[in-house]
Amino acid sequence: MTTATQPKDTAPSKARHAEIIIIGSGFAGLGAAIKLNEAGHTDFLVLERGEEVGGTWRDNSYPGAACDVPSQLYSYSFALNPDWSRSFSKQPEIQAYIRNVAAASGVLDRHLFSTELLGARWDAAAALWRITTNQGEFTASIVIPAVGALCEPALPDIKGIGDFEGEIFHSSRWNHDVDLTGKRVAVIGTGASSIQIVPAIAGKVSHLDVYQRTAPWILPRADREYSAVERFAYKHVPGFQRLARAGVYALRETQVVGLTKLPALLKPLQLSATMHLRKAIKDPVLRAKVTPNFSMGCKRMLISNNYYPALAQPNVDVVTDPISEVRAGSIVTKDGTVREIDALIVATGFHVTDSPVFEVIRGKTGTTLSETWDRIGMQGYKGTAVADFPNMFFLVGPNTGLGHSSMVYMIESQITYAVEAVATLKRHGLSSVEVRGDVSADFNRELQERLKPTVWMTGGCASWYLDKHGNNTTLWPGHTFEFRKLTKKFDLDAYHATSRRDLATSTKTALEGSAS
Ligand code: NAP
Repeated sequence: MTTATQPKDTAPSKARHAEIIIIGSGFAGLGAAIKLNEAGHTDFLVLERGEEVGGTWRDNSYPGAACDVPSQLYSYSFALNPDWSRSFSKQPEIQAYIRNVAAASGVLDRHLFSTELLGARWDAAAALWRITTNQGEFTASIVIPAVGALCEPALPDIKGIGDFEGEIFHSSRWNHDVDLTGKRVAVIGTGASSIQIVPAIAGKVSHLDVYQRTAPWILPRADREYSAVERFAYKHVPGFQRLARAGVYALRETQVVGLTKLPALLKPLQLSATMHLRKAIKDPVLRAKVTPNFSMGCKRMLISNNYYPALAQPNVDVVTDPISEVRAGSIVTKDGTVREIDALIVATGFHVTDSPVFEVIRGKTGTTLSETWDRIGMQGYKGTAVADFPNMFFLVGPNTGLGHSSMVYMIESQITYAVEAVATLKRHGLSSVEVRGDVSADFNRELQERLKPTVWMTGGCASWYLDKHGNNTTLWPGHTFEFRKLTKKFDLDAYHATSRRDLATSTKTALEGSAS
């Protein structure tokens, strides 16, 4: 019986149903929609909180935004783009690519934009996900969260930052209405985003303070425009682009042994980064400030040709004293120095291992993903399935990130697995599958063992790769082709499966029990 006090998300009559609901339409969600559609699983909806596809590439529109994985590899294998203008694409070109793929895919009709996930919970009796959004209620037999790891801005907990009266925004929420020309600007953070923003704005602002907590390793960026001949070849010579892609892929995979087993193999790269730094920065004081104090690879290896030259400009200061306070118009460091600013850019990264999305997805016991992961550590089976969360296939899930290659490759592997799972459910007349706790625990025990000797754990740095317990719950500790092999087939024997008939019987029994 429905009562006046029943929460909204339990009112099934109002809910719109789709067999599969995908949450998010970045590379992962869009790719899943395309592949489900191709496989004939056409009854799906994609709920996207933004106004268009693109995910992180839609959101990160800051000046200088570009990819640090070569364009040939940073695209779907099923939608190669012969028109890339350069070897490392810039954000507008990547976003245009995603938009074009979406437009040509025939799945945009099942996208609901400006639709933000507020809650999802597994209703075991009905074998359904009940999903609440800002646009109403939905139900789905299967849910595919594809919200991305780098989507929730992490704002620094600095005293007084809320009282700053100038312009302030996070790198991934760039305010394009603000003209920084001639302004005194501060950037907090020196990660992948910051090292692209700093050179893009240093020439137009009157003064720039770059607040650095940890100096990153930065390699030269082998970026260049493609010649007309290359572009012709990519478009018209059969197999040429696939070959180029395979070459980039293979080259990137050579870094895996250094990252995961023998960090000493990364020394030549570290030397190259050191030479790069020495060549660009002559001032010994500045050089010392920006020299990293951990092993290369421990944090994401960055690439840039214009970051160091920007730091060496007379209107740019690198501030290494810790920030003690932000005031209405200034930043104060621990040594008492007050630096006046008009605008503050917060390039402090993302909630990766503590995403707010984890707090609103509830499994069969009513526990949220964040509560579950607080208890056992963020983990998934093959980065995709989580015990207690039936019929949920998480894309860009735990330990699927990379320190060396294209996430699109990992995403496509996970999509294959999820599509296979959907096919298996249908083929066997199953109402639900839920990964077995023992299988998932074994998988993760082995994963954590493999992570122990990696440079991410031994390299002497703190990074967003690690959770609050110091475990690496984000990166895949091996070759990407290993992950592809693991996700090629859906392994039903690793799962508890409930057939539709069993569900009907148990529901009938429960109803009879409650009636008697
Ligand atoms: P990030 O790598 O997490 O860097 C955040 C920066 O902010 C770090 O320098 C960090 O210092 C600093 N920071 C954080 N909290 C701070 C605080 N309270 N006070 C002072 N400094 C603070 O974030 P991101 O640069 O946005 O990059 C995130 C990820 O996005 C990258 O690793 C990469 O995977 C991806 N990305 C890729 C590209 C690309 O393809 N080119 C571009 C942008 C981003 P510590 O180092 O000391 O923690």
